[in-house]
Amino acid sequence: MEVRTRFAPSPTGYLHVGGARTALYSWLYARHNNGKFVLRIEDTDRERSTQPAIDAILEGMQWTGLSWDEGPFYQTKRFDRYNALIDEMLADGRAYKCYCTKERLEGLREEQMKNGEKPRYDGHCCEDHSEHSPDEPYCVRFKNPTSGKVKFHDLIRGDIEFDNSELDDLVIRRTDGTPTYNFCVVVDDWDMKITHVVRGEDHINNTPRQINIYKALGAPVPEFAHVSMILGDDGTKLSKRHGAVSVMQYRDDGYMPEALLNYLVRLGWGHGDQELFTVPEMIELFNLEDVSKSASAFSTDKLKWVNEHYIRTLPEERVAEELKWQMDNLKLDYVNGPKLVDIVKIFKERCKTLKEMAEQSVYLYNEYDAYEPNAEKKWFKENSIEALEKVKDKVLKVENWVAADIHKTIEDTVNEMQVGFGKVGMPVRVAITGCGQSPDMGILMEVLGKDKCVARLDRTISYLKEKFAK
Ligand code: GLU
Repeated sequence: MEVRTRFAPSPTGYLHVGGARTALYSWLYARHNNGKFVLRIEDTDRERSTQPAIDAILEGMQWTGLSWDEGPFYQTKRFDRYNALIDEMLADGRAYKCYCTKERLEGLREEQMKNGEKPRYDGHCCEDHSEHSPDEPYCVRFKNPTSGKVKFHDLIRGDIEFDNSELDDLVIRRTDGTPTYNFCVVVDDWDMKITHVVRGEDHINNTPRQINIYKALGAPVPEFAHVSMILGDDGTKLSKRHGAVSVMQYRDDGYMPEALLNYLVRLGWGHGDQELFTVPEMIELFNLEDVSKSASAFSTDKLKWVNEHYIRTLPEERVAEELKWQMDNLKLDYVNGPKLVDIVKIFKERCKTLKEMAEQSVYLYNEYDAYEPNAEKKWFKENSIEALEKVKDKVLKVENWVAADIHKTIEDTVNEMQVGFGKVGMPVRVAITGCGQSPDMGILMEVLGKDKCVARLDRTISYLKEKFAK
């Protein structure tokens, strides 16, 4: 049988890392089994579901590369299907109309709480067959079995059972005629032929109710795998307080999607003590049985470490592709300026994020406004003028504009002046970049281009002449 999994977010906000990890596990399971992965947007809560949230979820899925084979399906477009089934269930008694008023339900709830009982619907309208006028509002409730147990084998958590006596008759259609989440999910998973439901553990309590609905519909019950929560590093539920929780925020902060996926797959799943997994490796090795039952703590430091690894090791072209967003964000003109692969080559050993990489490369695209005060103070001395002039003369004569030949202009000046390397190299660095720290000058100057290097050396020579003339 073909394995079919799905991701079914409610579009009430952005795609957060918990949702992304659930989506990843569901996607990996489908890919590992050569199955299909379905995307479904659970937008029945019309007040809380928004188009920007839908767009944000799709964007997050696309950015992480969690490609879906079918969908996105929207629950709001399937109301006729749900309602037709509910009408059939009403007709043959699998469901019933409930006319209980809010007041009655509230009173019941209060009384049950007072008696130390779990609040639940008492089945009043299932028994009560008094006449109601056609315009009297009602909701529809599913007639849950009153005895026996619901058992299922969770692929992550093992055997789980609930007593039917603990479950009340669930509302499956509201008074306003809209079907409810627990019903729609079942119909969708049935219609979409989902074989494995991978979702957050916050849905465990819904599962026995849903299983009863599958059975009442005569639908096959899928397998379930409930993934545990992600906590912050202080052990509380992951939230904004812990830093970024939105997947797209990680893009903005300069993470490679490969790194985020690798980090998320390890957060709750493992294969021996291996930490780094390419996507094809994840697909090959992933299984639900090895997903951890306990909650996992999110660590931004570890994610950074994984990110650093991918920035260093992925093909430079791939990193460059991802760097575009950062460059656009800083309005750096990489179409006419240095090529992005060169930026990656130069900075990849020095950066933990692409954001840092873009920020560090600004002086290769734009003229710097001023020298970094500390660098200026430390490296610009009166004899820097001579050093810069000598380097500039040699730079003008370089025929083959490549790092080694450019570097030689500094080395030769050092030898001529009989000074330490720093006395030449550092003023050149500050003149070219405006700051005191940078990658190797040869490669930087190669990428910046001869004209710009000469212009910056000139600019600094004039500046220093004026400074030391005073
Ligand atoms: N829409 C639900 C949520 O976003 C998921 C339901 C499910 O996966 O069954 O929490």
